[in-house]
Amino acid sequence: MKLANWLKVLRLIALMLSLFVLLPQLSQAQDRPIIIQQWQVQWIPDDAISDIPPSATGHWQDANVEKPLTVIPTGMQGMWTRISVPPTSNWQRPGLLVDRLYGLELTVYHDGQLLFESKRDFKFDRNKLLLPIPSSSESGEYYVRIITTSDRVGLTSEIRVDDYEKLSKRFVLKDLPDVLIGVSIAVLSLIMLICSGYLRRKQRSSWISLCLIALTTGTLFIVYSPLPYIYLHNYGALMLILFDVSLFVLIPSLNYYIDQVYEGQFRFFTKFRLVQAGYSIVCLLALLIYTATGEQHYEVSYLILNVIMGAVILMQLPLIIILSILIAKHGNRDALILSVGLILFALLCAVDLILYYWSNKIYVLFLWKFGVAILFFSLVIILARRISADYAKLFTYSKELELYNHSLQRTEKMKIISDLAASVAHEVRNPLQVTRGFLQLLAEKTDEKSKSYFELAVNELDRASDIITDFLTFAKPEIEKINLLNLSQELKSIGAIMMPLAAMNGGVLVCIAEGDLYIYGNSSKLKQALINIVKNSIEAIGNGGVIKIEVVAEVDEAVVRLSDNGQGMEQEEVAKLGEPFFSTKTKGTGLGLMVTFRIIEVMKGTITIHSTKGKGTEFVIRFPLVANENILPGKSHV
Ligand code: ADP
Ligand code: MG
Repeated sequence: MKLANWLKVLRLIALMLSLFVLLPQLSQAQDRPIIIQQWQVQWIPDDAISDIPPSATGHWQDANVEKPLTVIPTGMQGMWTRISVPPTSNWQRPGLLVDRLYGLELTVYHDGQLLFESKRDFKFDRNKLLLPIPSSSESGEYYVRIITTSDRVGLTSEIRVDDYEKLSKRFVLKDLPDVLIGVSIAVLSLIMLICSGYLRRKQRSSWISLCLIALTTGTLFIVYSPLPYIYLHNYGALMLILFDVSLFVLIPSLNYYIDQVYEGQFRFFTKFRLVQAGYSIVCLLALLIYTATGEQHYEVSYLILNVIMGAVILMQLPLIIILSILIAKHGNRDALILSVGLILFALLCAVDLILYYWSNKIYVLFLWKFGVAILFFSLVIILARRISADYAKLFTYSKELELYNHSLQRTEKMKIISDLAASVAHEVRNPLQVTRGFLQLLAEKTDEKSKSYFELAVNELDRASDIITDFLTFAKPEIEKINLLNLSQELKSIGAIMMPLAAMNGGVLVCIAEGDLYIYGNSSKLKQALINIVKNSIEAIGNGGVIKIEVVAEVDEAVVRLSDNGQGMEQEEVAKLGEPFFSTKTKGTGLGLMVTFRIIEVMKGTITIHSTKGKGTEFVIRFPLVANENILPGKSHV
């Protein structure tokens, strides 16, 4: 392609880009909404019947967004509002929107014609106004008649003139999040409620109360928003009742839940919550009667439902906060979480109320919603913590049960072995010794060739006798002679005995035993126990293996560590150590460690084993140390 062509293409791209950037701005400039921040007001006396707009020259008061006239003077039932709208020919279908105003009955006139009418037969005075207006090249006056029965009336937000479609979207979107959040919470709580069937009884009540808390707050979110009153106009009265009912269910559920967190530690709170629940039922009945009788006796109902209930709610909030802090001080984490949630909730509500009164009741409360969300979140955390703690407890129980079962089985086995050993071993050992003696005698008299056979026979007899010794030790581990032992010296002598055997297997044995550490026990039994361990280590190492014997004092215990860098064991094998006949060796008996465990147990010691397959094994044995003042000079003998 030629350079000129390239330039053409580039120019085209630049043109398109500039169009993309400029077009939206152009269209915006054309569509920019008109914001009207001031209007005029004329009060309508109680006895006025005419709904024809007053004359333009009458007595009009100025009002604006900063200073809207909303406090209704006595003897008045509402107001006329006059809004001057500039030319609207920019739009094909212009509209007019007031995001927030108070009033039950709205009528809009323009050029003497009725443009819009809406009437509420329920007492929710937070309202919005949206209507299409004629497109005109001249400014026009719009008269809005607002009637109410409450103590406030009129516009509190700016007036917006824009494309009707756009305004409709804005009309809905502004209040939609609240409704959506409310609906999601309510639906979620209903699902949670269905799931409650799967819980255990103890958790179910907390769970259900939490579901009720969620359901009622969700409902409060929905029916506090002005949207449903506009779109579900016919159900306005029902939604107002729903608001009260939600509140009367929410408070007792919340109290019940909080009492669960306190674990019934404050009995007067339990009483208080029962009384409060009773009063909520009274309120529900009063509401029912009030609605059923066509809203008669307003003063009495107002006293029961609003004044007293309001006072109770206001009173209990600081009470709960104080109690939660008191309990949290004692280390109850749930109470701590609860008090943080409650304090934040109370704080946000307080700020909300202050702003409400400070703004002459124009301010729309919204911080409480965050407060509720935080409080609800804290309640969910608490429940989750409780359920998980319950499961953790269950888990430990079952673990303990398993361990207990295991040890029971073990004891049972041990008992059988020890009975068997006691009855047989002793009887067998004597004949064996006699046989050994005669074999040795015979060996001296025989020729050189047969001597090796006698040697083999004697060795095998020794092996048999070793096994029987193990059995006997196991059957009768009681130590007749208990002496004060110098553990360091004992270990040194064991090291000396075993060193040649370790060397024969290609390893080294290191013994670190400094200082004097005294324990009570029997020297030969202790040696037997420890030698069994060292023997296993020697059998587990290969060339280059290192076996370490160490002893240190830790607080009031002497800690012996016997470690090797041999083949190690799997965890399942470690768990089986000490069980009779557990052996992985072809020539093993599986009695060595069983005996070791028994001796250490009798010497009031404990034993723990750490092993990693392929890396090595460590046996840690702890004996109670004998305090220095109990050691008399000359009493120690090894
Ligand atoms: P035996 O030595 O007759 O097999 P023990 O009761 O002395 O019986 O040991 C039981 C089993 O424990 C051994 O067969 C071996 O598998 C395992 N074991 C004990 N000590 C060690 C160790 N230091 N390293 C590896 N395995 C060991
Ligand atoms: Mg062994």
